[in-house]
Amino acid sequence: MISFDRRDSGFWYLSARAPEAVEGRGKPGQPLADAEHYEIETTFDGREILGRTTITLTPLVDGIRVLPVNIFRKLTVHSAVLEDDRPIELGVIQEELEQGWVAQWSDEGADADAAIVFPEPLVRGSSVRVRIGYEGRDVLEGRSGSYSVRARESWYPNLGTFSDLATYEMTFRFPRRDQLVAVGTQVREETDGNQTVAVWRSDTPIRVAGFNYGRFERLSRTDEDTGLEFNVYTNPRELGGARVEDTMADAQNASRVATVFFGPAPYTQLSVTQQVEWNFGQSWPSLVFLPTSAVSSAIALSPDASPGLREFTKTVGWHEMAHQWWGHLVGWASYRDQWLSEGFAEFTAGLMLEFTEGPEEYDAFWDRRRSEILDRGRYVANHEAGAMTQGFRLGTRRSAGAARAMIYAKGGYVVHMLRMMMRADGQPNPDEAFQAMMHDFTSNWAGRSPSTDDFQAVAERHMSPAMDLAGDGTLDYFFEQWIRGTDIPTLSSTLEVTDLGDGRYRISGNVSQEDVSEGFRTLVPIYLDFGDNVVKFGAVALSGPTSQALNGQFPLPRSPRRVLVNAMHDVLAR
Ligand SMILES: [Zn+2]
Repeated sequence: MISFDRRDSGFWYLSARAPEAVEGRGKPGQPLADAEHYEIETTFDGREILGRTTITLTPLVDGIRVLPVNIFRKLTVHSAVLEDDRPIELGVIQEELEQGWVAQWSDEGADADAAIVFPEPLVRGSSVRVRIGYEGRDVLEGRSGSYSVRARESWYPNLGTFSDLATYEMTFRFPRRDQLVAVGTQVREETDGNQTVAVWRSDTPIRVAGFNYGRFERLSRTDEDTGLEFNVYTNPRELGGARVEDTMADAQNASRVATVFFGPAPYTQLSVTQQVEWNFGQSWPSLVFLPTSAVSSAIALSPDASPGLREFTKTVGWHEMAHQWWGHLVGWASYRDQWLSEGFAEFTAGLMLEFTEGPEEYDAFWDRRRSEILDRGRYVANHEAGAMTQGFRLGTRRSAGAARAMIYAKGGYVVHMLRMMMRADGQPNPDEAFQAMMHDFTSNWAGRSPSTDDFQAVAERHMSPAMDLAGDGTLDYFFEQWIRGTDIPTLSSTLEVTDLGDGRYRISGNVSQEDVSEGFRTLVPIYLDFGDNVVKFGAVALSGPTSQALNGQFPLPRSPRRVLVNAMHDVLAR
């Protein structure tokens, strides 16, 4: 670790040495055990949770005696048992939760780490079942009729979420007046006095389990196109009423477009639920949480809402639906690859605008992402803060918006650039090659967590000859420039069209690229503007800061008004 800049607490940098990173020593540690199945029993009593989770796990290394588990710091583990012919009591290591009013109001206190201690070392490869009992207060938060779990990934003890897939069976006991929606499908629900007992199950291995809980109304529908069953849960007491039909339509439309572009949905049933939080959404396997701002008519349809809020409420549902493919079906290897989830989801939201509101809105979406990428805060422009592969490390006090702008906006833009390069205008399905690439990616990486290199390998299987700008048959140049690099070109053109008579036209002038390093390769698309229609005419390959002269005669069906470059935001440019 090195530190320089004595002002503002210094400027810190920590990195693995290059040879270690190449050897793989700079990568995240390997898990000790693989959790295969979770049986989670949860009882809600006010804001208190009583729980018992049985984990079926297989040790991946020999000799484990102490097994770390993640569990929310407000949940105290009171017992752990190794299930056997004769159950064996296990030791528990957990920092004691601080009591008193300070602990109640602060997020400090015991951390999320606990560990189970076995009397004998576990044997690699032989499965065991461990039952863990726990309870805690202040685990749920929210107002009456609408709650959420404060610890979204550790409300049950687990060996790691997102990278370790497992099957789940969840039993919930909660007050009869409320409703609970969990991941997977509901297999049973019955009332027992004032309580509801509901059993949910996922036989498909999933990356994480979650649920939403509150007083909801449900709308159910089966989509004829995809065969998917949708359940939309909203809170009818919402200000101005809930946009129930709009929410249902958003979910169905997103699944149709994603099925065509990316492949079948990973689940047969999808629940969309309103959550307490008003300014962010979240995606769980087969379960989407929508922010209240997107569900409430009072906000989403208000003429007083800012353009940013309007875009957010319009696109957040599509973005979260897209995570069923990007994040849950196909994961991501490390924080360096998170654009494969967030960027791909953001791309999908843009694509949805094309199919619901037309190509102009798709184009306008990328213009707004471009502004976001180039936005300069007080200190440093987002795109200059660092490369996309630095992930959330880009977010510092000096570059507060950079991480989001790179992972979401630039990540999505990169997918859009691939789409535009692969597009075959005039064909019955101009996106055929792009769709084939995305289907290839989902079918090869379903249930796994690819890296950026893995996606590049898939993209190279589908690249067109025109995309081979470096002439080496790879997309090394593209991924180096756009994902591991920070350059963004300025493109300009002096191209003009001259009518030569007899339906022939001369197109001449220069196409230029500036503000990039030597060897920065760009395929600059050229468009003809016919007034009522803008049509792609061709493309010119540029390398580094350069200006290329073009001069040619072409037969055209009618007279173009002007010649444009990069008219559909095909290339991210200043
Ligand atoms: Zn997201």
